[in-house]
Amino acid sequence: MNKVIYMDNNATTRVDPEVLEAMLPYFSDNYGNPSSMHTFGGMIGRSINEARAKIAGLIGAQPDELVFTSCGTESDSTAILSALQAFPEKRHVVTTRVEHPAVKNLCENIDTLTGHKHKATLLPVGNDGAIDLALYEESLTDETAIVSVMWANNETGVIFPIAEMAAIAKERGILFHTDAVQAVGKMPINLAELPIDFLSISGHKLHAPKGVGVLYVRKGTPFVPFMIGGHQEKGRRGGTENTASIVGLGKACELAAERMDDENSRVKELRDRLENRLLEAIPNSLLNGHKTQRLPNTTNISFEYVEGEAILLHLDRYNICASSGSACTSGSLEPSHVLRAMGVPFTAAHGSIRFSLSVFNTEKEVDFVLEKMPPLIASLRAMSPFWDEKK
Ligand code: PLP
Repeated sequence: MNKVIYMDNNATTRVDPEVLEAMLPYFSDNYGNPSSMHTFGGMIGRSINEARAKIAGLIGAQPDELVFTSCGTESDSTAILSALQAFPEKRHVVTTRVEHPAVKNLCENIDTLTGHKHKATLLPVGNDGAIDLALYEESLTDETAIVSVMWANNETGVIFPIAEMAAIAKERGILFHTDAVQAVGKMPINLAELPIDFLSISGHKLHAPKGVGVLYVRKGTPFVPFMIGGHQEKGRRGGTENTASIVGLGKACELAAERMDDENSRVKELRDRLENRLLEAIPNSLLNGHKTQRLPNTTNISFEYVEGEAILLHLDRYNICASSGSACTSGSLEPSHVLRAMGVPFTAAHGSIRFSLSVFNTEKEVDFVLEKMPPLIASLRAMSPFWDEKK
């Protein structure tokens, strides 16, 4: 099999051919600046607003509650820093230990970055990656400006109880932000019914291109822009709009709404087939993360006593793309902060692999991975001193 078997969709997704087709005219004929006074520019402005309406439709927002950004990371930074500037007397942020670095690194370094004596509480999670709501409530103080908690975890797919968490923050008059980069397009979201103030989206996680994101800002929420410049996005984000990518994201959201059922039935069945058969066929393999409170496309499995990197390199020889929970590639032998926060033992965390599927995966691809994995793990274990000791 020469074709790439792509099971790394939580890292990035392929641009859907229909998305690409929708974008192409904006690289050629439709090159006007949406802020221009002429009819040609105005036409581009209308395309942006059509895209805005499609994105709003997917998440139950009003179109003018959406601010286009360059990526999920920018959306996350904008929400958190905005809250801290809007409420300068409040010096506290609550988040979790399992956030994506876009939130975790910002919150961990918030004191140095703002120079304003801010502090952050990073909530722990249980062995299944779930949050303790009582502990969450206890962490909120009169000083808390904002809570920032991801909707679904990029490594394990674990879904947090965002509706309950947002309601608790709202009761205390605290702003609530959710990094929904992995959730949007994979699960139904209706912001009209939820007391969420900010929500982040990233285009490249749902078959739109890289370099475009959205920050949802609930109407009436105090907001301080991150990118200061022109009057684009009603003064909420300076910079000429990335027109082609915005149009692409609009199309991707329209497709995601149409495919939500497929994502939650066929993709989930493929994920379950892969997960259940790997766990059955390979001894000393363990699922990381809650069995049911999880995205339909993600499975994270530890194969004890082998290195995740070694598994990935061997899978790569078959053109199978997945990712590993250890970070040797970044020069560190530390396993992922998510698995460490969940208390996954060292020997298991090092051998963790995440497979993240999409609507483009097939049963044939899953079966190919199922055929290759058991002998691959057995051969790596045959060379592992840890496995020898274990036996
Ligand atoms: N948040 C989560 C949960 C993610 O998975 C990612 C990307 O992996 C990001 C934020 C960052 O998004 P972007 O790559 O668009 O900056």
